[in-house]
Amino acid sequence: MRPGPRPLILITVDCFRADHAGFLGYDRPTTPFLDSLASQSLVFRNALATGTPTYYSLPAILASRYPLALGRDLLGLAPDETTITSVLKQRGFQTAAFLAANPYLSPRFGYDQGFDVFRDFLDGGTLEFTLEHGSPWEAGVRGRANQVLSRACHSVAPLGVAYDELYFQYCQQIAARDDESLDSLRRFPSADVIVDHAIAWLNENSGSPFFLWLHLMDSHSPYFPKQQALEAMGCGPINACEARYLNSYWARGDLSAKRLQGKRDGVIALYDAGICWADAQIRRLTEKLVELNVWDQCALAVTADHGEEFLDHGGRFHPPLKLTEELVRVPLLVRVPGCGSSDSEHPMGLIDLAPTLLDVLDIPAPASFRGRSCWSQRVTGENVDRPVFTECLYGCTNPYREENRAGPRILAVRKGDDKLVIDFASGTEQLFDLKSDPRECSPLPLDAAKPARRHLLECARKHVAESRKARDVDLRFESQLRDLRLEWAHSPANTPN
Ligand SMILES: [Zn+2]
Repeated sequence: MRPGPRPLILITVDCFRADHAGFLGYDRPTTPFLDSLASQSLVFRNALATGTPTYYSLPAILASRYPLALGRDLLGLAPDETTITSVLKQRGFQTAAFLAANPYLSPRFGYDQGFDVFRDFLDGGTLEFTLEHGSPWEAGVRGRANQVLSRACHSVAPLGVAYDELYFQYCQQIAARDDESLDSLRRFPSADVIVDHAIAWLNENSGSPFFLWLHLMDSHSPYFPKQQALEAMGCGPINACEARYLNSYWARGDLSAKRLQGKRDGVIALYDAGICWADAQIRRLTEKLVELNVWDQCALAVTADHGEEFLDHGGRFHPPLKLTEELVRVPLLVRVPGCGSSDSEHPMGLIDLAPTLLDVLDIPAPASFRGRSCWSQRVTGENVDRPVFTECLYGCTNPYREENRAGPRILAVRKGDDKLVIDFASGTEQLFDLKSDPRECSPLPLDAAKPARRHLLECARKHVAESRKARDVDLRFESQLRDLRLEWAHSPANTPN
C-alpha cells in the first residue's frame, strides 16, 4: 500500500455522447476497456454536462461553477479561481495536464492554473479559429470570378443547387493529395500522443501523490480516426480520401437533413472509431499505472465535456443552439480501487464532479464549489433528488467575437425524468417526459403536467437569481482585467512591426 493520499486521474473525451459508450448500452464495440472498468466503478447513467460546448462545460468540471455565473461576457476560469487543481496543488500533489489542442482549454482562459506541467499542444496558435463548426470545403477563399458566378447561379434556385454541387466536387478534386492519410488529415493530436506524454510524466512523478488531467479530441470533428481503431470496430478500411469526402460532405451548409442522412452512418463510423481509439489508449495508460505500481491506489474518472449530434434533431456537431440529450448527456464513470461498483440512474450534473472527486480523496470541497459530492450518498444510499442545470448562450459558436457572447441564455432543468428547456430569446419553454419520450420528439402540451412544469420553472427562476446574487465580483473583475490586458497586447498599436 502506498503512503499518502490517492493519486487522481481525470480524463475528458471531447464530444463523447453517452449513448455511444458500450457500458451505457451502445451496440458497437467502441469502449471494450471502459466497459470492463465499469464493472468495478461508480457509473452515472444520467450524467449531464453543466454547459455545452467546451467553453461552457469546463468551468463546471474543474471549478464546480456554473458557466455563466461570472457574467455571459466572460469565458474560461478566472485568474486565481479555486479549482480542483488548485486545491490538490495546495495539498502537495504533483499536477499535470496534457490536452489535445482544444483552443478553448489554454492558458488564455486560465486552464493552466495550478498545474506544474501544462501542455495544450496549441503551440501558441490559439486564436481566432472556429473550432465548433465550419465547413472545410468552404474555408478556402473563392476567387472573384467564382463569387460572381455563385451569386448569379443562386439567383435561380435549381442552378444554385447545381452550382453548389459542382463547386463541392471541384473542391474535393483539388484537395486530393497522393500522399494523404488519416494521420496527415487529423487536426488534433491523437490519444496515443497525449498518453505518451502522460506516461513520460508518470515515469518521473508517480512516486508522490499526483493529479493528472487528459483531454482527448479523437471524437471531435473533423473525424479522422486511427485506421487501427476502424479495424478494431470491424468497420473495415476507410481510406483517407473517403474520410475527407465524408467530413467535407457532412460539413456542407447547403444540404437538407434528408440529403445529409445518406452519409450519416459513414460519419458515425468515423466518430465511433475516435472513441474506440481513446478507449484503447486509456487502457494503455492504465497498463502503465499497473507497471508503476500505482493502479491499485489510483482513482480514475472518465467523462466528456458534451455530446455530439448526428441529425438527431436535425443538426450536426455541437453548436450551442439547443440542449438536447445527445448534446448534454455524457458518460461518467469513477473508479476507486477497493470501493466496489454501483450504478446510478439519478441525473447528476458535472458541476458535482469536482466535489465528488475531492470526497473520494477525503479532501473537503472549498466553499466556492457550487456542486455537491455524490460519493457519500453512494455509501449512505441517500437518494438526493436535486434539479440539474445545463446552460449556454444561444448561438455563441465563436466566443472570440464579443458580439457572439451577448446572446440570450438557454437553460435546461432536469429532475427525475422531467426536463424543462427554457429559451430566453423567445420566452418559451418545453417540457419533456424522458421516460415516455427519451428522444425528446414531442414536448408535452402546455396544459399537461402542470405541477412538474411549475416546479421546474421555479427551480430555473431560483437558479438564475442565485447566479446573479452569488456572483463573485472579484473573480469577475480579475477576468475582465485579463481580457483587457490581452486585448491591449494584441491591439495593432502594440504589435511589434
Ligand atoms: Zn468540446
